[in-house]
Amino acid sequence: MEQLRWGTPEALRGLLCELVSWHSMTLTEGEREFPGKVETKLKELQYFRDNPSNLKLNEADLGRRFLTALYRHKDVKDTIVLISHFDTVNTEEYGDLEPYAYQPEALTKLLFDRMDELTRDAQVDLLSSQYLFGRGTMDMKMGLAMHMGLLEKAAVEKWPINLLLLTVPDEEVNSSGMRAAVTKLLDLKEEHQLDYKLFLNGEPVFTQEPGDRSYYVYSGSIGKIMPSALFYGKETHVGEPLSGITAPYIASFLTQRMEWNMNLQENVMGETTPLPVTLQQKDLRLEYSVQTPYRSAALYNVFLMKRTAEEIMEIFEKIAQDAARACNQSYKDVCLKQSATPIGEVRVLRFEDLQRHAIRKFGLDLVEKVKVEVQANSNWDDREKSLRIADSLMIECQELAPAIVLIYAPPYYPAVNSSHEDLVKKCVQYVQEEGLKKFALPIKQVHYFNGISDLSYLNYQDNGKGWTAFKANTPVWGSSYTIPFDAMVKLQAPVLNVGPFGKDAHKRTERLHMKNAFEEVPFLVEGMIKMIAASRSQIPSNSN
Ligand SMILES: [Zn+2]
Repeated sequence: MEQLRWGTPEALRGLLCELVSWHSMTLTEGEREFPGKVETKLKELQYFRDNPSNLKLNEADLGRRFLTALYRHKDVKDTIVLISHFDTVNTEEYGDLEPYAYQPEALTKLLFDRMDELTRDAQVDLLSSQYLFGRGTMDMKMGLAMHMGLLEKAAVEKWPINLLLLTVPDEEVNSSGMRAAVTKLLDLKEEHQLDYKLFLNGEPVFTQEPGDRSYYVYSGSIGKIMPSALFYGKETHVGEPLSGITAPYIASFLTQRMEWNMNLQENVMGETTPLPVTLQQKDLRLEYSVQTPYRSAALYNVFLMKRTAEEIMEIFEKIAQDAARACNQSYKDVCLKQSATPIGEVRVLRFEDLQRHAIRKFGLDLVEKVKVEVQANSNWDDREKSLRIADSLMIECQELAPAIVLIYAPPYYPAVNSSHEDLVKKCVQYVQEEGLKKFALPIKQVHYFNGISDLSYLNYQDNGKGWTAFKANTPVWGSSYTIPFDAMVKLQAPVLNVGPFGKDAHKRTERLHMKNAFEEVPFLVEGMIKMIAASRSQIPSNSN
C-alpha cells in the first residue's frame, strides 16, 4: 500500500508548520496565493495524479479563490464535506516578534526569553511544552491540515464514503469565500452525483469563559447580524440650537436602548447569546463646522440562535420607535420651556420604506444611480457604503427628516443548528465515548459554536420570509454583498464542528494543544467518518 505522507503526528506537525508559513492574512497577496499552494501539495498524492479533475480552484472575489478536492468512491453517493478557512487575522500584536508569527517552532522557542510578557496561563502552557504558538496554528490551519491528512488516508485506504475537502478565504472578514462556495457545492453535487450527509467544519475549540479548559464539539453555529441606523436630523447654526435637531442627540436615545438590550438576547437549549453592543457611532460629516451635525450613524452587533433577520428587524424597529418617542418628548419639553417652536417629530422608517419613497419621487433610475456612485468609492467598505447609500437617499428626501432610518449592514451570519439530527447525535455520542475510552478525554457538546463560522451558510432553515427583510434593508444587497439564500436552502444536511483545542485565537499567544491536535482529534474524526460510512444503511437517505 502507498505510504501515507501525513499519517503520523510528526508528519501532521510538519504539514501544519508549512501551512502556517504560507502567510495568508485576510485581504493580502498571501491569501490569494494560498489555495494554489495547497493544490500543488495535494497534486503530489497519487489519487489526485490519477484524478486531476477532482481538484479545482474556484473564483471567490477580489482575485481570491477557494479550493475543492474530492475523493470519490465509485460505489457510494454519501459524502462528507470537510470545511476550513485558510485566511488568518493579522499579526501586528506580535510587535518585534512579528517575523516569527508564521514560524511556530521558532516562535515557541523564542517565547521562553519573553516569559515576563506572557499571561500566567500562557507561561504555564509554554513551560509544559504541550503547546505550539503561532498565527493560524489554532485558527484554523490545523483544521485544514487534519482534513488533508484524512483525505489522503481515505484515498489510499479506499474508505467507502466520499470526502469533499473545501477550503475558503475571507472567513475572518466577510466570508465571501464560503458564500461563493455554496453554489459550487450544488454544482459538484450534480456533477459527481453526491449525496451530502454532513457538513463537517474543523474550527478550533473556543473557551466558553476565561480559563475554560474543556474540550467541545459543536452541533451548530451562532448567528450574527448588524442592525444599523442612519440618524438624519435638521441642521441649524450653533447660535440657534432649537431650530434644528442634531443627529447625535437622536442617536443617543437609540444607542442607550440598543446596548445590552435583553430583548435581543436569546436562550436556546441552555445556551445564551451575548448581549448586543454598539460597534460604531459616528458623524457622517467629513470636516469641522459650526453648522450642527445632522447626519450620523450607528452600528450594533446582535447575536442570534433561532431568530431570523425579519424577527430582529421587528424588535429593532420597536426599540427605535420607543427611542424616537422619548427623543420627541424631551425635545418638546425643552421647546416649551424656551418658548420655541419644534421643527417636527423624529420618525422611524426602514430602508425599504425610504427606498420606495425615493423611487416614487424620482424613479428607479435615480436610486440606482445613487447606489452606483456610492459603490464607485473604493475607499469605503460595505458598512460605510450601506450608510452612505441611505444618507444619499435621505439628502434627496428631506421631507422625511428628522428620521431614524433602519438598515442592515453586512455581514450577516445566519444561525444554524443540527442538535436534533440523528446523525449528529450519533456522531457526538461516538466521539464522547471514544474520547473517554482512548484518551480519557471528556468531551462536551455545545449547540452553537460561539466563534462565528462558515457553517452559517449551509443547511439554511427558513420558510423564505425571514431573509427577505435582510435583502430589502441591506442597501448594498446585490451589488457588493449577497448571500445565496436560495442555494443554501438546497444544501440540506446537518452541520457539525470538530476541531483541535487551542487558546487565545486572534491574540499574540495563539497556541495549539499538540497532543489534542496531532493525535486525539484526527483519530476521533477518522473513527467518526468510518462509523458514518459503516452505518449509512441504517440512516434514512434524504434525496435532495
Ligand atoms: Zn476560524
